[in-house]
Amino acid sequence: MNLSNKIQNSFKVKSHCTEIFKVHTVDSLVSKGKGGLFTSKTSIVGGGYNIIPRSFVDGLVVQSNLSTIETTEDDNSHVLVKVGSGVVWDDLVGFTVSKGYLGLENLSLIPGSVGAAPVQNIGAYGAEASTFIQTVHCYNLKTGIFSDLSKDECEFGYRTSHFKSKPELFICYVTFRLCKSNLSVKELINSTKYSKLEFLKDTFRLIRLSFKSITLKFSPRPKIKFSFSCIRDILTLCILPAKIKRKIVSVIRTKTLHNPDKIGNCGCFFKCPILPNAEFEDLRNQFPEIEWFEHDKQSVKISACWLMKNTNWAGKKANNVLTDTKRPVVLLNAGSATGEDVLHVMSQIQHDIKSKFNISLEAEVVVL
Ligand SMILES: Cc1cc2nc3c(=O)[nH]c(=O)nc-3n(C[C@H](O)[C@H](O)[C@H](O)COP(=O)(O)OP(=O)(O)OC[C@H]3O[C@@H](n4cnc5c(N)ncnc54)[C@H](O)[C@@H]3O)c2cc1C
Repeated sequence: MNLSNKIQNSFKVKSHCTEIFKVHTVDSLVSKGKGGLFTSKTSIVGGGYNIIPRSFVDGLVVQSNLSTIETTEDDNSHVLVKVGSGVVWDDLVGFTVSKGYLGLENLSLIPGSVGAAPVQNIGAYGAEASTFIQTVHCYNLKTGIFSDLSKDECEFGYRTSHFKSKPELFICYVTFRLCKSNLSVKELINSTKYSKLEFLKDTFRLIRLSFKSITLKFSPRPKIKFSFSCIRDILTLCILPAKIKRKIVSVIRTKTLHNPDKIGNCGCFFKCPILPNAEFEDLRNQFPEIEWFEHDKQSVKISACWLMKNTNWAGKKANNVLTDTKRPVVLLNAGSATGEDVLHVMSQIQHDIKSKFNISLEAEVVVL
């Protein structure tokens, strides 16, 4: 085993693999694959923010360093931007916002690479990457065939896509279709698409939502408290420029999320389970206080945090893994957890939730 082949991961578990291959050009990928080098023992990683690797991963690990950002089409209203899978996701968001291209601002500061964004269909504050993806350009590591997948072919869903069941597809580039708007507030009011009445409505909504987000506390000392509960609504307002939305999201994320540089974590470890309406009603009869969110007409999303709190998994430490007290769905490395420790705790949590609620809690993270 070559101990220099470390698999970088934000949970900070120690892990090595047989070989790491960094893809700097598509041609280098093709020549590396010649002679059937890519076998079932090949894994793909990006920045390692959503993976739990075991202590030793047997086989080749492929990682993208394709780092170009290119505007391929530009008309009056939209642009197509083709981006290398090795580009840091937040660098892309920063680039598009600075150019006045709208769409990705709610997804500011999500850690990781552009290549992983379609795989997980990353999302935050009511937005999902899939809304803005036009084409995913792939290379099949097993067959050596290139293909361009349309949005429909990507079969996007809640933190999932076609790529989840096709681990042999290496994403080389992603093309995003974004709205163009360099309009200032003055231009917004005069634009035909955005009437003066809409502008006024948005202004009043912004004022109302801002007041709803602020509470004044007078004891023991006067203090202003901000609540983030209206943030999704605020981010839908056209009156706010994308630059401001990006700033708001960045501030909230910095304040509320655990920084992996300080404590190992992968963000949300589990997905919120989705249940058909009928099953949900049965469950609600047994547990009337259950927390849930709307998903679509046929199903609801159950809060994974609520399930974990109600199986005593909030603020708990087991096998060097901690669960966050307020958001137990975030698992933290208490210091020296191994990949195997994390997997053990993961199955204990899944077992407890299955036993009490008969719900299968699916991991959002990818195990290597
Ligand atoms: C603090 C924190 C906050 C987070 N917040 C959010 C959030 O708000 N919303 C959200 O959706 N996620 C969030 N995440 C999860 C994570 O940021 C995303 O899943 C991100 O897309 C991971 O990117 P990555 O490059 O690190 O991918 P990795 O973790 O390395 O890989 C993830 C998956 O993508 C695949 N993959 C990576 N690159 C490629 C490629 N080029 N071709 C094919 N497959 C590839 C891997 O095989 C793996 O299956 C958070 C994580 C952390 C640590």
